[in-house]
Amino acid sequence: MNFPPTEQSHSLHDYRARGGYQALEKALKELQPADVTKEVLAAGLLGHGGAAFPAGRKWGVIKPNDGEDHFVCMNADEGEPGTFKDRWILEYTPHLCLEGLILASYAIGGRHAFIYIRGEFDLPFRRIQAAVDEAYEAGLLGKNILGTAYSLDVVVYRGAGSYVCGEASAMLASLEGRKGWPRNRPPRLTVKGLYQKPTVVNNVETLANVPVILNLGAVEFKKTGTPKSPGTQMISISGHIARPGVYEVEYGYSWEKFLYEDCGGMQGGKALKCIIPGGVSTKILNAQEIKGVTLDHNSAVAAGSQLGSGGMIAVAEGTCMVRLARVIQRFYHHESCGQCTPCREGMGWMERILDRIVRGEGRPEDIDRLYRISNANDGTTICSLGDSAGYACTAILDHYREEFEYYILNGRSMFDGRLAVDDP
Ligand code: SF4
Repeated sequence: MNFPPTEQSHSLHDYRARGGYQALEKALKELQPADVTKEVLAAGLLGHGGAAFPAGRKWGVIKPNDGEDHFVCMNADEGEPGTFKDRWILEYTPHLCLEGLILASYAIGGRHAFIYIRGEFDLPFRRIQAAVDEAYEAGLLGKNILGTAYSLDVVVYRGAGSYVCGEASAMLASLEGRKGWPRNRPPRLTVKGLYQKPTVVNNVETLANVPVILNLGAVEFKKTGTPKSPGTQMISISGHIARPGVYEVEYGYSWEKFLYEDCGGMQGGKALKCIIPGGVSTKILNAQEIKGVTLDHNSAVAAGSQLGSGGMIAVAEGTCMVRLARVIQRFYHHESCGQCTPCREGMGWMERILDRIVRGEGRPEDIDRLYRISNANDGTTICSLGDSAGYACTAILDHYREEFEYYILNGRSMFDGRLAVDDP
């Protein structure tokens, strides 16, 4: 996106000095709404929230001039463990995603748009709210934007800390003031979304790419990245990595080069044990499995996982995977909304089984039980939380079964020698 952060990069003045809102001016004065969608479709922009669904295809379902109300909702409810790249965009360049939101609204003929932001985000909330206020004052929002016939109002809405509200249908339910519960689809949200009207939900980073596409043009945009994953991906990396932080990489970039050169390898020169590639909902890959793999969606899938939300967690050798699995499962159990029996009950069972293994009271049959409960969630739940929890658990079991067997047999982890009961 080429927007290096500065102390003032969040301000409208700074954003405009870098060419900000030129894409909006061009779109409103020279392009029809359908042309904006066509350009985004031609650029091959993929969703950056995890599913990598083409943004232009989502927008293209909605007819901008059909006389109905249409809405765009920016998904700023970044709650996937290990993922903090949208927070960076909201803090350092909020006008970039706001401009993308206005462009998306114009493309689908929306008159009201929403920014659903994670409740725990303080500075990002203040920055995006200030950006919206600045945009209203500068005539970039409200009635007759930039002197054209197009008008748009934007509301910033703070969530209340529920992970599952990051799921698009739950987010819209929460926006309407209802319980933040996911719902079955169809109907798709682009057919019946917010207030039963066609709605597009796009992630912060996805929208931040839209002004870039309109400024460069689809052809130029596609020169970065790979043919099937054009552009760049923001990656937040944490865990045992020497240089954690937020990086922007071109799709197709070497995964090993990223980890060992750009991020400096593991802390203390330790060896890499495994990577959680894109938030805890993606399957782990061990050090061998990322050899020769590139950072793009196809390559990650071919390696057996996904890039997901771009929230990468590096795990060094010597880490106990039984305890890691317990931390992940505790999170899923806590965040299950409770609508689906396999998720509501299964998450609790899995957490209790892992708890007793870590207490040194595991039973030999527990490993098969964990597999059975994980598989029971596969395809039987309303949203992907249930599936993801199962995938995360079985991927760890597949890779590190011997650590679970050792823990159950000896009542302690094979790594630290401490009694399991001493483990906090
Ligand atoms: Fe709720 Fe879990 Fe069902 Fe998703 S899978 S709707 S979180 S119970």
